[in-house]
Amino acid sequence: MRNVTVLCLLCGTLTLGILSALLYVHFHRDHVSNWQKKSQAPASIWKLDKKLQQQAIHSAGQIPLSRQIPGQHEGHRPNKDQTKEWRPFFKLDENFNYSDPEFLHGILLYGLNTIISKSLGNQRPVPDTRDKMCLKKRYPTRLPSASIVICFHNEEFNTLFRTVSSVMNLTPHQILEEIILVDDMSEFDDLKEKLDYHLEMFRGKIKVIRTTKREGLIRARLIGAAHASGDVLVFLDSHCEVNRVWLEPLLAAIAKDRKMVVCPMVDSIDHLTLNYYPAPIVRGAFDWHLRFVWDTVFSYEMDGPEGPTTPIRSPAMSGGIFAINRHYFNELGQYDKDMNLWGAENLELSLRIWMCGGQLFILPCSRVGHVDRHIVQNVTQVLRALRYNNLRLVHVWLDEYKEQFFLRRPDLKSIPYGNISERVELRRRLGCKSFQWYLDTVFPELETSLEMKANNFH
Ligand code: UDP
Ligand code: MN
Repeated sequence: MRNVTVLCLLCGTLTLGILSALLYVHFHRDHVSNWQKKSQAPASIWKLDKKLQQQAIHSAGQIPLSRQIPGQHEGHRPNKDQTKEWRPFFKLDENFNYSDPEFLHGILLYGLNTIISKSLGNQRPVPDTRDKMCLKKRYPTRLPSASIVICFHNEEFNTLFRTVSSVMNLTPHQILEEIILVDDMSEFDDLKEKLDYHLEMFRGKIKVIRTTKREGLIRARLIGAAHASGDVLVFLDSHCEVNRVWLEPLLAAIAKDRKMVVCPMVDSIDHLTLNYYPAPIVRGAFDWHLRFVWDTVFSYEMDGPEGPTTPIRSPAMSGGIFAINRHYFNELGQYDKDMNLWGAENLELSLRIWMCGGQLFILPCSRVGHVDRHIVQNVTQVLRALRYNNLRLVHVWLDEYKEQFFLRRPDLKSIPYGNISERVELRRRLGCKSFQWYLDTVFPELETSLEMKANNFH
């Protein structure tokens, strides 16, 4: 009887899984075709003069989804600019069988099209998405060395392997100290001996560390960083493909100023087609719910001598793709190791960088593709961690503005968030500035969004 019940439950779960995958693909396609229709509407950039048109076309691309809730592309700038209007169309392959059980299984497990990923194999060329002005840039021959830290939990084998091989193929070996892979207690067999076996080809440059319990990406990155010996730490997700001359701009900026933290522009790799799309020039921002958003950078902001290669001052970073001087990372207090699993660590670090004497920039000449996975598993667990991590951030960094967060999330006012005394002490020890200073100096648009709201009430 027990067996029959278990069997029924298993069948039920399987059917439910397949049904949700089918629904997911169906709605995604609908969304894509609706969006395609919208995108074909005349674009306002043609009202711009010739020079601005050129610039707008140049920065055309697909807004990456990393850390951004799908459909939420609005940043803080009130006017429309090219970034929203000039994303290329998704191209779903008409001949691809989207009801293939292998495809559905892959989507549920990994959040991406595993059939295409397998067919692409260990490495592939990706389009050079840099502006042509980047090709003229020269970087010092002597640059600091980099340790690339890549954490993974249950990643699809080929996607992970392409991440590693793209770094190996597109990074000059004299600046590549090592690649540190941190397996955060993955459960899939192919990420164990098979992975080690295949990584043998990169022997000498790769360290693999396996955690003994699921640490979550925050502590997993700390473990990776603790094993690193390069001058600079570069964090990447395990579903990335780096582009040409991706590392040199990051290292050159840090060599000039050790308190400079830099991110590449994150290009989009579509999770269904694995096509690689250029990102438009955007900066990282967030709203009062502490939701990360990409924000428009207007063409006129890049009118200076460096044009579309101008570094973008960014209030926030999107997630796990950035470079930082290793000693500076330690001095600055690394990450909050009591944050769990996933989320908020990107905003916490961004605030800490700005408020405690550093700077955060996005460098358009450094490009890294990131698969916008659509993960449907363990959502409740992740949301719980995100809530907990957000609360830690709010109580350490937001000062009197924490009320703005709680106005929007009154339900979180009495939720426990652990002991934050070490982080409060860190803030004091580093002599960090106030959140008001951050609003005034780095991210005035966030405060303006409050005023706009208040005016709407009157
Ligand atoms: N990751 C991990 N442990 C976790 C959750 C995530 O090692 O508990 C890894 C994951 O495999 C990925 C990286 O951390 O390589 C960032 O996670 P994700 O891609 O989900 O974050 P996002 O793209 O949303 O920043
Ligand atoms: Mn990711």
